Amino acid sequence: MSHVFPRHTKSNLPTVARGEGVYLYDQSGKQYFDGSGGAAVSCLGHGDPDVIAAIKGQLDSIAYAHTSFFTSDPAEQLADKLISHAPEGIDRVYLVSGGSEAMEAALKLARQYYVEIGQPQRRHVIARRQSYHGNTLGALATGGNEWRRAPFAPLMVETTHISPCFEYRGKRDEETTLEYGIRVADELEAEIRRLGEDSVFAFVAEPVVGATAGAVPAVEGYFKRIREICDRYGVLLILDEVMCGMGRTGKLFACEEDGVAPDIIAIAKGLGAGYQAIGAMLCSAKIYGAIEDGSGFFQHGHTYVGHPTACAASLAVLSKLTDGGLVDRSAEMGGKLQAALVQAFGQHPNIGDIRGRGLFRGIEIVEDRETKAPFAPERGINKLLKKETFAAGLICYPMGGTIDGVRGDHILLAPPFILEDNHIDEIVTKLGTAIGAVL
Ligand code: PMP
Repeated sequence: MSHVFPRHTKSNLPTVARGEGVYLYDQSGKQYFDGSGGAAVSCLGHGDPDVIAAIKGQLDSIAYAHTSFFTSDPAEQLADKLISHAPEGIDRVYLVSGGSEAMEAALKLARQYYVEIGQPQRRHVIARRQSYHGNTLGALATGGNEWRRAPFAPLMVETTHISPCFEYRGKRDEETTLEYGIRVADELEAEIRRLGEDSVFAFVAEPVVGATAGAVPAVEGYFKRIREICDRYGVLLILDEVMCGMGRTGKLFACEEDGVAPDIIAIAKGLGAGYQAIGAMLCSAKIYGAIEDGSGFFQHGHTYVGHPTACAASLAVLSKLTDGGLVDRSAEMGGKLQAALVQAFGQHPNIGDIRGRGLFRGIEIVEDRETKAPFAPERGINKLLKKETFAAGLICYPMGGTIDGVRGDHILLAPPFILEDNHIDEIVTKLGTAIGAVL
């Protein structure tokens, strides 16, 4: 009997034994292609010798020291390197242990900023219905998953939600893509006005929506309009790049593609590539300066903030992503993966959309590709796909969810950036086997 508390108490999972490159192996020796990098984590694949050496080297000098007493070389170097690649205006890094912690820190920093500058009446956050920002209470409140939020509804921070930017389902025939983006972005302005022009402190969004929708980028112009609206009403723009950041979309920061600079960015997952638990919140000089000139103290903290071993691992990861050219590789191989998916499944009667950026790809499963009607939830298509892909030796991230009353099933692919051309063939073949068995 296992004493580990799994997420699904009746699950009977195989035991992972080892990993090598793009593959994982269970105890029976079965090989799995890690087509989703877990949950878009393992961007370097498994067993990377440089990252392992960096961790071992750090353990030999100092594994951990509390940030109330010391800073450390790996934390300083990691922050410097992140800032040297960050969007304009982003100037400081707060190092945490994961994505939810990064989002919690982002929300608290944004709120504290307005308290520091004498606008404590700003207490509302606006987010989007199609989003996941983490499972801690603040992050959960900003997320749009009704089923995740429902049991904890009485504990939620005051957040309201506007429409996502989801062209496949949201664009009307009579409007252009640009008009669609502006229409849904303008919902932010309407919501700010409804709540009170000086009562909102932040708007939160994922530049490319991950787990809840399957790699959905916003349309061109959407985030520029969002930025304009935020500036008009003094609302801070928090971008959640926990899943889509760190090269996943073919740029180190996904928002580079959208041409906007946020006030705060949350990153995690690919930052540690699974070798250590690490996340970060990056903020602008304006926000940091207000706190420095005010109380001089960010009213937050965790025991493992700036963990030296995690930072050393992350620094090695970031060097490979940037200096080692892996972000560019994500862009290049992502284009090839998209083309191969379209070639193999583009005409399939149950595949409605194949989308994404870089090595972050989503496949929308529908009952009818003409009407875009989804399968009935009772069919449990995403669960069946998970079972069949796993049986075929492919790990991907099939999910289902209801957005604006429409239930969708999708598959999320987020393979390691080190994959080769033959691995793309392997993904397509194994996915084809699973799709053939289920649809
Ligand atoms: N934000 C986004 C966009 C995510 O995808 C996730 C994790 N799936 C989180 C936040 C939460 O990160 P973590 O699970 O590391 O707490």
